[in-house]
Amino acid sequence: MSEKPVNIVPIPAFQDNYIWCMQQENACIVVDPGDATPVLDYVEKHQLTLTDILITHHHPDHTGGVKELVKNFPDIRVIGIDSSRIPYVTHKVTDGDQVDIPSLNTSFRVLMLPGHTKDHIAFYGDLGLFCGDTLFSAGCGRLFEGSPEQMQHSLSRLTDLPSDTKVYCTHEYTLANVSFALAAEPNNQDLQRYQEWAQGQRKADTPTLPSTIEEQLAINPFLRTSSEEIQKTLSEKLARNVHESLDVFTELRRWKDHF
Ligand code: ZN
Ligand code: FE
Repeated sequence: MSEKPVNIVPIPAFQDNYIWCMQQENACIVVDPGDATPVLDYVEKHQLTLTDILITHHHPDHTGGVKELVKNFPDIRVIGIDSSRIPYVTHKVTDGDQVDIPSLNTSFRVLMLPGHTKDHIAFYGDLGLFCGDTLFSAGCGRLFEGSPEQMQHSLSRLTDLPSDTKVYCTHEYTLANVSFALAAEPNNQDLQRYQEWAQGQRKADTPTLPSTIEEQLAINPFLRTSSEEIQKTLSEKLARNVHESLDVFTELRRWKDHF
């Protein structure tokens, strides 16, 4: 059995969104198409049929293109959570569901990840982790609807995945996130090296994504609440002892909101 590999490419949209496109032969699927136009341009240019859309959460920059794509591909499947906030979903999924993608000969498992929104999900499979606005490189999503506790638990489900899992997030926020991460943990050498690498990528107009779980554990302050340096930074900044993991996470998220 000689199966062609699945190509995964970011289709840029808006200022800093990536619409991840997974392609095998002449079939492809996309994750979080906030805008239909760049997707339609891409599939036309490469003569592809769009078979599935995966949706992580309802925000317009992740769903705005669905209506137009469904119009262009009437047989398409739209896979997402059962929510009145996400119209056009044809395949409703919930935590633990397996999603088979026949056109790519692959499948994903659904992870419920409340925090950024209350019904945010991620898709995890052999091809990697597609985690929307939950985990970013060196950062995490804003807490629009969930509590810090929920978000921290959601992130812990992701860090429980195999360390070599490729992490495909929706936004190119990496450089700004790294600046914040270095403010919290200035002597983290992995982070310093990562900043140099990420700056080079962006100068060359190349994405900093995907990352891996292993890399994120080394550089992402929101996954590093046990770092003594982060605890020290927060304790000095807030003039109280900040050591407990949820407290560290909560204060980091609050600080980042105004950074
Ligand atoms: Zn969002
Ligand atoms: Fe977003």
